[in-house]
Amino acid sequence: EPYVPQIIDVNYIEGSNDQKWSSRDFSWTKKLEENNKKVFGNHSFRPNQREVINATMSGYDVFVLMPTGGGKSLTYQLPALICPGITLVISPLVSLIQDQIMHLLQANIPAAYLSANMDWSEQQEILRELTSDYCKYKLLYVTPEKVAKSDVLLRHLNILNTRDLLARIVIDEAHCVSQWGHDFRPDYQCLGILKQKFPKTPVLALTATATASVKEDVVQALGLINCIIFRQSFNRPNLQYSVIPKTKKCVEDIDKFIKENHFDECGIIYCLSRMDCEKVAEKLQEYGHKAAFYHGNMDPAQRAFIQKQWSKDEINIICATVAFGMGINKPDVRFVIHHSLPKSIEGYHQECGRAGRDGQRSSCLLYYSYSDYVSYCENDVDCRRLLQLLHFGEKFNSAHCQKTCDNCCKITSSVDKDVTNIAKQLVELVRLTGQQFSSSHILEVYRGSLSQFVKKHRHETLSLHGAGKHLAKGEASRIIHHLVVEEFLLEDVKKSDIYGSVSSVLKVNESKAKNLFLGGKTIILRFPSSVKATKSSKPEVTPAKGSLTASGKISPPSIDTSAQSQSIVDLN
Ligand code: ADP
Ligand code: MG
Ligand code: ZN
Repeated sequence: EPYVPQIIDVNYIEGSNDQKWSSRDFSWTKKLEENNKKVFGNHSFRPNQREVINATMSGYDVFVLMPTGGGKSLTYQLPALICPGITLVISPLVSLIQDQIMHLLQANIPAAYLSANMDWSEQQEILRELTSDYCKYKLLYVTPEKVAKSDVLLRHLNILNTRDLLARIVIDEAHCVSQWGHDFRPDYQCLGILKQKFPKTPVLALTATATASVKEDVVQALGLINCIIFRQSFNRPNLQYSVIPKTKKCVEDIDKFIKENHFDECGIIYCLSRMDCEKVAEKLQEYGHKAAFYHGNMDPAQRAFIQKQWSKDEINIICATVAFGMGINKPDVRFVIHHSLPKSIEGYHQECGRAGRDGQRSSCLLYYSYSDYVSYCENDVDCRRLLQLLHFGEKFNSAHCQKTCDNCCKITSSVDKDVTNIAKQLVELVRLTGQQFSSSHILEVYRGSLSQFVKKHRHETLSLHGAGKHLAKGEASRIIHHLVVEEFLLEDVKKSDIYGSVSSVLKVNESKAKNLFLGGKTIILRFPSSVKATKSSKPEVTPAKGSLTASGKISPPSIDTSAQSQSIVDLN
């Protein structure tokens, strides 16, 4: 049974579900297929490529969410080749641009780029060519700074436009527009000017970062109109995810892991600080690995040298800060190890995504040290894929993981438990305490803590103080997390003081919570069958039929029931 992502969105035209875009009856279809083979050397199209091309060539603004390595470039390079005029491409990094231009020129597609650190005379020559009668370029790449700061460029684009020769505007790595994205670039916010100046030119925005808020920002900032959105699953079936508590012997563990699983293969180790990069690299060298470090403190030539050595397999392991990665195209990265927690789950997904581009099995290890920092790490029950994809608005059936994450491997059998009553109590408790406390505080009150803080706020007098005494701590916190994910509770993030520290406060989403209290909603969570989730009262237990489901419905049966139950996970 193939994995079918369920993605829900109401505000945009969903191109992914519209058969029309997969048609092979467009006037350009033949040309498209021929050039895809002849010029780009591809035997076929990858998921959504044909659809995106058809939509953008029909003149629509199009927003594409496609995982890294999915083949976004082709969706504008192929139209650029077969449409009259010039395609303008905005891309965040000169190194990315140079890499693209190299590939285009190899395929005999004339392309050029403009960047601020080019000689002025060289820039002028390109601009002159651009507006000449027989311009040879099919694609012009620029960095966002160029659009924001160069009137000369806009003037030339205007000339092209009046001659109907501005074929398309492409915003690559479009998540850079958004402050919620992990690579925010202020200059990307100025790109809205393009739609204002050239309202008839179709815009194609491309990204691999798919959260709703990022998408919202991008569409807004670029001023996209009736935008058609194409997206596909971000699941990467060939990646194996694990989270490991970090000890003092972390680097020894890494050494052992690589020797046992990926000996002499290529990988990236992400570290938090420059010093960590150097220390970890040095230790791994001592253990006999071909390792090097890479961070922002090195000069560009040094960094380029390391990256080159790594792509030629002269170095196996790069210990790097997150500065390393954007635009890395190495297909055979066999492991990505996070020596420290990533900054966000998007960043994590992106960084892990650099492993296994060739589709071969690869490993993603995350070492974490602050046990209560990231719920992803704390959660030792739910499928890692499910947790990651949930963040992108995808509902994943963990049965499809096929035991390729540590949690799914641990669980040999499981039970679904109705936790609706506990959920109601937790929502009620958030209300009773005035909707001004964090989840960890709510949990404390629910479990009957008598801390000074609880006393100070007179929470010990509440009827629900201690109502969850009999529950394991991990259980109640999973239920709260679920309530937040399903938006029965809303997390309100606040910068709390002059030091800029951030805190998050739970509020009740009354419109959704209503269903819970009117009895229309059942919430069922999966637990390993051997775990006594409830100590005193007997839970209502149904045999495992599926995974954690958002709607409270049970997804199709899929758990291997022949497996013996084992006591492995202890929620305390
Ligand atoms: P993205 O920008 O989505 O990360 P790229 O456009 O850089 O991905 O493409 C990743 C790789 O996939 C490139 O090496 C590209 O040549 C290859 N590729 C793209 N489309 C196809 C296709 N239809 N068939 C085979 N290979 C493809
Ligand atoms: Mg790309
Ligand atoms: Zn799993």
